[in-house]
Amino acid sequence: MRTKKGKDCPICGEKDCIEVRSKFKDSVTPKGYTAIEVGPLSGNFCKKCGEGLLNKESERLLDKQVAEGKAIQDSKRLVAADIIDIDSVVKRIKVSRQRIHKMMEEGKLPYVFIGTRRYPIKNPSIFDTLRKNVRTHALQKIKKGNVGKARSGKYLC
Ligand SMILES: [Zn+2]
Repeated sequence: MRTKKGKDCPICGEKDCIEVRSKFKDSVTPKGYTAIEVGPLSGNFCKKCGEGLLNKESERLLDKQVAEGKAIQDSKRLVAADIIDIDSVVKRIKVSRQRIHKMMEEGKLPYVFIGTRRYPIKNPSIFDTLRKNVRTHALQKIKKGNVGKARSGKYLC
């Protein structure tokens, strides 16, 4: 008789120990922050060591909730000089305003709340990293032929 194949844990190596956990709540404490409540999350977890993998949707939700939690805490301690307006970041990273909002939403670009509006935190090294990533993606697209014409970078520098 064939039994349903159990999954082994890639972290601790325990056999047949992976269980599905659905819609649980948890809290995350990033370094330098107090605990941030997250959830509901779902994924596969090891019964022995507790390590696990969230599903894609939960991963996105977690990133969003952690970014939001950090933003709320940072809003209370950062001053005006620590933040930057979206237009400046648009110029810096060379992407659309919409993309900047998405980066904040996805937790790629740290931000704070002022009222209900989001403002990016001034962090040149993160801007540089994001700009490089955006350029890399653009180049990959060009290589795959998704973009009709690659613009000459001659006048962009
Ligand atoms: Zn394990």
